[in-house]
Amino acid sequence: RNWGFSLAGELRQAAARDPDRVALVDEERGEISYRELLDRAERLARSLRGRYGVGEGDRIGALCRNHSGLVETALAGGLLGADIVLVNTGLSGAQLAVVAEEQRLRLLVHDAEFVDRVVGLPPEVQRIDERDYPELLAGAPLGELRPPARDGRTIVLTSGTTGTPKGARRPTPNGLGPLVAIIDRIPLHSGARMMIAAPLFHTWGYAALQMAFALRGTVVLHRRFEPVAALEAVQRHACTALFAVPVMVQRLLEVPAPATRPPLEIVAVSGSALPGGLATRFMDRYGDILYNLYGSTEVSWAAIATPAELRRAPDTAGRPPHGTRLAIVDRQGGPTPTGQVGRILVGNELLFEGYTAGAPERAGRDDPAGGRLLDTGDLGHLDADGLLFVDGRADDMIVSGGENVHPSEVESLLAELPQVREVAVIGVPDRTYGQRLAAYLVLHPGETLDPEAVREYVRRYRARFSVPRDVLFVPALPRNATGKVLTRELRRYHRA
Ligand code: ATP
Repeated sequence: RNWGFSLAGELRQAAARDPDRVALVDEERGEISYRELLDRAERLARSLRGRYGVGEGDRIGALCRNHSGLVETALAGGLLGADIVLVNTGLSGAQLAVVAEEQRLRLLVHDAEFVDRVVGLPPEVQRIDERDYPELLAGAPLGELRPPARDGRTIVLTSGTTGTPKGARRPTPNGLGPLVAIIDRIPLHSGARMMIAAPLFHTWGYAALQMAFALRGTVVLHRRFEPVAALEAVQRHACTALFAVPVMVQRLLEVPAPATRPPLEIVAVSGSALPGGLATRFMDRYGDILYNLYGSTEVSWAAIATPAELRRAPDTAGRPPHGTRLAIVDRQGGPTPTGQVGRILVGNELLFEGYTAGAPERAGRDDPAGGRLLDTGDLGHLDADGLLFVDGRADDMIVSGGENVHPSEVESLLAELPQVREVAVIGVPDRTYGQRLAAYLVLHPGETLDPEAVREYVRRYRARFSVPRDVLFVPALPRNATGKVLTRELRRYHRA
C-alpha cells in the first residue's frame, strides 16, 4: 500500500469503509464526509478530463490557500493519474509565469484572490478560478473513472528563499513505515481530529494531510491563520492536534489565553526554526504538547523533538525517527566530534526524487550503512545525549574579518532580551571586514532599546566579531508562509 502519496487511494478506502466520517471541516463549506469528498473529487476529475482534456501524466498547478478546493483538486488529479504541482502562494506573477512554463502546467487552479497574479501566464496554460468550481462539479460529464495506469505525483515548489523556486518531486514510499516512525514520536491516533494551519502547498502541511487521511482523521482548514479563530475552531471541532509553523505558535501567545485550555494534545511545528524561548513559553501556557520537526522539501522529516526533550533542551530539533539516519560532517566529509558544528546529512525512505526542470541536484553521498545521505545545506551539531541542534543554513554563514559567525547564535542571544519580540541577523557587505553583522529587531509594543546597549549585551557573551555593528529597529520582519525571514528583502531594507 502506498500511503506516502496516494491521497486518492486513501480516500477511496476511507470512503468505502468509513463513508460518513467527516474528512474535512472547511471554514466556509462546513463538514464534508469521506463519501462526499470522493463524490466531489470524482465529479471534478470528470470535468477536468472532459472539459480540459487532463489525463495521465499531465500537470495541474494549484495556487490555493488552505481550503477544501485545494484538497479536491489534488484528489481529482490523483484519480486521473495527473501530477499536482503545489504552488507557493507567495510567488509573484512573474515567478508564477516562469514556474508555469518550467513545470509545463496544463492547467492552473487558483483562488479568487489571485486572479490578478495569473494574468501573465502563457496562453497555453488553462486557468480555473475557484468560483468556477460549483459549475464544474454540477455540470460534470458522466463517464467512468478507471484507476489510472500510473500514480499521480506530487511536486512541491520550494519557496525560493534562496533563489528561483524549484520543483521537488516527492517520493512514493511503500508501506506504512514512515508513518509508523512518526507516530512513534508523535502520538497521533486513528481518527484524530486535527487542524492543519501550516500551508498545504508546503511539504509540511501536505504531509500532515497525508497522515490525516492515512489515519482516517478529520482535518479542519482555515484559509488564513488567525490565532483567535484557530483556537475557537480547535474548541468547537474538538481538535486534539494542530499542525503549524513556528510563527503561528508565537501568534498564539500574543492573544489572551483562552478561558478553558484547548483540547489539544499535540501541537507539531516545522518549516523553520523554533526558538527555544518560544517553545518554553508556549508549553508554560498550553501544556507540554509541543513537538518540533526538522525537515525540508528534499528530505521530508529528519528529526523530531518531543515535549520532554524541548523541556530539557528548548532549542533542540530532537532525534531522527526510526528509519532516518543523520550524520554531521566536517568540511572534508569526515565525522565531527560531539558538540562540534558541521553539515547535516540525512538518509531515509522519504528523500525527494530530484528537482524538476533542470535545477542543479543536491550533493549527497552513499551511506556506508546503505542507501543515500543527502546534504541538507544546513549546519548543526549533536549533544552528548544525541539530540540534534540545527544551527542554520550553511549559506547564511557570515564571514567577518575572516571569522565565521552563524546568524542563529547571535539571534538566539538577542531573542533572550525581554524587550525583543522577533530578531533576524544577516551579513551585509563591508569595505574593511568583507561582511559585518546587521541585527534587525522588532520590539514588544511600548518597549525601547538603545543600539549601543544591544551591542554591549552581545559583547558580554560573544566574541568581538559576533557583535552586530548595525542595529535596526523595524516594525515587522518580512516572512514567507512557513515563517522564514526573507533576508533578501531585509537587505533591500538595509540599503534604503
Ligand atoms: P528554499 O526555496 O530556499 O529551498 P524553502 O523554505 O521552500 O526554501 P524548505 O524545504 O521548506 O524550503 O525548508 C527547509 C529548511 O528549513 C531546512 O533545510 C532548515 O534550514 C529549515 N528548517 C525546517 N524545519 C526546521 C526546524 N524545525 N528547525 C530548524 N530549521 C528548520
